[in-house]
Amino acid sequence: MDALEAKQKMEALNKQLSTYAHQYYVEDKPSVEDAVYDKLYAELVQLEQQFPDQVLPDSITQRVGGTVLSGFTKVRHDIPMLSLGDIFDEESIRDFDERIRKELGNDIEYMCELKIDGLAISLRYENGRFVQGSTRGDGHVGEDITQNLKTIPDIPLKLEQPLNIEVRGECYMPKESFVSLNKRREEEGEAPFANPRNAAAGSLRQLDSRVTAHRKLNYFLYNIAEFDTLDVSTQSGSLDTLDQLGFRTNHERRLCHSVDEILDYVHEKTEERSQLSYDIDGIVIKVNALRQQRELGNTVKIPKWAIAYKFPPEESETIVRDIEWTVGRTGVVTPTAVMDPVQLAGTTVSRASLHNPDYIRDKDIRLGDTVLLHKAGDIIPEVSQVVMDKRPADSQPYPIPTQCPSCGSHLEHLEDEVALRCLNPMCPAQIKEGLVHFVSRDAMDIRGLGPRVIEQMYEKELIHDVASLYQLTMDELLTLDKIKEKSATNLLEAIEASRHRSVERLIFGLGIHHVGLKAARLLAQQFKDLDHVMSATKEEIEAIDGMGEIIADSLVTYFSKQEVHDLVDELKAAGVNMNYEHHSMIPTTEKSMDDSPFVNKTVVLTGKLQQYTRKDAKALIEDMGGKVTGSVSKKTDLVVAGEDAGSKLTKAESLGITVWSEDEMKQAIEKFNEE
Ligand code: NAD
Repeated sequence: MDALEAKQKMEALNKQLSTYAHQYYVEDKPSVEDAVYDKLYAELVQLEQQFPDQVLPDSITQRVGGTVLSGFTKVRHDIPMLSLGDIFDEESIRDFDERIRKELGNDIEYMCELKIDGLAISLRYENGRFVQGSTRGDGHVGEDITQNLKTIPDIPLKLEQPLNIEVRGECYMPKESFVSLNKRREEEGEAPFANPRNAAAGSLRQLDSRVTAHRKLNYFLYNIAEFDTLDVSTQSGSLDTLDQLGFRTNHERRLCHSVDEILDYVHEKTEERSQLSYDIDGIVIKVNALRQQRELGNTVKIPKWAIAYKFPPEESETIVRDIEWTVGRTGVVTPTAVMDPVQLAGTTVSRASLHNPDYIRDKDIRLGDTVLLHKAGDIIPEVSQVVMDKRPADSQPYPIPTQCPSCGSHLEHLEDEVALRCLNPMCPAQIKEGLVHFVSRDAMDIRGLGPRVIEQMYEKELIHDVASLYQLTMDELLTLDKIKEKSATNLLEAIEASRHRSVERLIFGLGIHHVGLKAARLLAQQFKDLDHVMSATKEEIEAIDGMGEIIADSLVTYFSKQEVHDLVDELKAAGVNMNYEHHSMIPTTEKSMDDSPFVNKTVVLTGKLQQYTRKDAKALIEDMGGKVTGSVSKKTDLVVAGEDAGSKLTKAESLGITVWSEDEMKQAIEKFNEE
């Protein structure tokens, strides 16, 4: 290749990479896998090394990705927020170690850390108070996201010492939150996020911090950028100091003294990766001594004293045999690829959601296509791309259905939505899904009533809406397959028990658009019974802390319908409780909260609880004036440890924090209620 050819190639690569980077950093919507981007990027780097005179002045290799979105105030980073150099194999880890030893000699220690797949944040404290939080942006100028960061419960608003300090880390979305967020988005006809990193970025860069608050983000810090009075001389010391100050750091880190120790760490963490509750995309290896870090310095884009080893993409190939379309509770019709079973990152996969028609069209997925699969966020199987070379000669574009697979109604594309919807309120699939939701654990919790039983009941016309569940008789139940007297009795008992549940479960169970568990609980607490919720005005609902316009609109519209009033009347006639019961374990009389065992306490729940679900225990503690957080720090007052409690319990013990068993918690609650 001559210089001219090289220049043209570099220009083409730079253009392509800049487009991908814009989709990734600015729109939070990548169109290709990271591995594809990384490969092109490596190609550009190699050309630049070969032809140093031809390096483009605006080359993407010379700047940190990302720009500042309009709508946010800009924050200048006095100390730039850099990216990290990437490597992709063990040989390069050895090369890195060799290079470092050549520069610094053999007196070297490395801090190895997990590379959290989120986005970089910087937090500034003045006199111990959190005053500003920002994104990395282009490394020199980021976005002011202080209000949004304040919604993350574990970010301390005040430090115990009045320090002036700037700290940095990664904000991320736990895998579990990512899965439920995407499920919700799909139900609401929106496009899912490609991975937790994009989900976290999209959630943090929201102009309305109430949206961020619902996204369940968390963070780990990994760096002190600036400090006045702290005595730290190593990366490991910085992390310990951050711990002591009450921040969250990642405890999977390890100090390594040789390249073999680093490789052991890399192997171990590669194995354990899928069990973590958050996604990681590699391992960061850092020279531990700050003095040596300074000696090595930085380039314009990356530190020379650290490197990121990125995990190879876990991909498998299989063939798409069918695309199934299912109708959800809200009428959204979702396609699922049915494929030949294949092993992928530790599990057998044969189905993957294709989300919406655009997804199928953009990737041009067809029946009979060979596709590459990966796991988004390390958990959800996704089709990354079609292997075009293997496409059968007679392949045809996949025809997107125009009719509901359940009721045959014409499917609609609503404005602003990527989804197809069935708008027929009497669509059997929607009604059945609505029933499944109504009886689910977080709603009326009718045990033994699974989707299959509901399907049968509906097909046999024993039930047609949620109120009709309460009219079921023993004789009717006995007409169902595999239901004998014993299970029928159990079912009737479960239905009976559900009549007495506190009304927030009913509100949630009705499946009102945008009304999740938390909103249902706030409504029940505020209005005390369903009649008052039904007659509440938009303004009254919006006035509740934690409720927004979208939920208020949805509620008012829902309760303005005559058929909803009829349904509620039927439920009332069936003896379903319409009042907020404030939990049987919670004081019903006006008791002074001062006596509550949890008042003003920060509580951490860990291990498996037997007598309460996590959600109930959390709700209970919050109702009794406490705050429940996810991680143990010096600010934790109490840890309730269930069975198999692990590192949180150990940490609590090492910090001398009071630890209760589940029984002790129960006794304390009961004692408070009796007094
Ligand atoms: P990066 O995310 O690969 O690495 C740097 C970042 O790692 C730091 O800024 C920091 O935020 C983070 N990090 C996580 N844990 C850390 C720890 N323990 N210590 C220090 N830092 C830690 O770099 P980047 O510049 O943000 O993004 C480049 C990557 O983004 C590429 O490798 C590519 O895979 C991906 N990308 C993909 C596309 C696409 O279209 N798919 C486009 C652009 C970029």
